[in-house]
Amino acid sequence: MEVFKTICEIREFSIERKKRGERVGFVPTMGFLHEGHLSLVDEARRHADVVVVSIFVNPTQFGPNEDLDVYPRDFERDAELCESRGVDAIFAPSANEMYPTVNTTWVEETSLTKRLCGADRPTHFRGVTTVVSKLFNVVCPDVAVFGEKDYQQAAVVKKMVADLNFGVEIIVAPIVRESDGLALSSRNKYLSVEERGNALAIRQSLLDAKSAVADGERDSTKLADAAVSRISRAGGRVDYVEIADPDTLEPLLEIGDEAVMLIAAYFGATRLIDNARF
Ligand code: AMP
Repeated sequence: MEVFKTICEIREFSIERKKRGERVGFVPTMGFLHEGHLSLVDEARRHADVVVVSIFVNPTQFGPNEDLDVYPRDFERDAELCESRGVDAIFAPSANEMYPTVNTTWVEETSLTKRLCGADRPTHFRGVTTVVSKLFNVVCPDVAVFGEKDYQQAAVVKKMVADLNFGVEIIVAPIVRESDGLALSSRNKYLSVEERGNALAIRQSLLDAKSAVADGERDSTKLADAAVSRISRAGGRVDYVEIADPDTLEPLLEIGDEAVMLIAAYFGATRLIDNARF
């Protein structure tokens, strides 16, 4: 496995492999890797000959009062996990390598980003779409894999790729969970034992909604209200619970053929997200 810190090196690596007729698969991450990230590596391997993982805590997607400085980092461990999973190359640039001057050029999706995780974090998705565009320009992947855990992010990236004709196939891989149902996240590390137990209410409320829908419930407000009460009773502070169209993310008052339920809630100071398809 190779580790590259500069744009020049990773670009040369990718172009060289593509010249040999190999497909380059790409998994962008912010590091502190867990089984969720590694499942994306496995998925990339199924669609490509070469797998590149980027590890970059992207400053432009963090708001002024968010956890950029304390975001967990452990490069040595990440590198070992990547190596053991058969990753071919890690791209781990410094912030200065990615943003050598103040960034004044942005890639912005202007519809899907306005609600849910974008409502209170007005520059978050602009940071994501900009860094993903930069990484695509640098790594030149044929296929890139994102996690369904960040449902809105994956939808925004798909829309950006379609709108701007990036030559990259986007694959969205399923959520990986702990055995008790908590979605794996680098931020779970912030949770106290008590908060971690309470946070299971997020998954449980998604499962409750799923079975209510299977039993014929169609009223989104009822389903969302039940989830809000369950999470609040467990001591969580709900940021949003929404039932939306899986593609446009427009809110659905009534559930038709397909829907996604999306939840963001704080347990202590930690903001967790999860979702389920109906
Ligand atoms: P992050 O390092 O949190 O920016 O995540 C990098 C990628 O891993 C994103 O595409 C996430 O959606 C994905 N990811 C994070 N957690 C999970 C999980 N529990 N299951 C599947 N994918 C995940």
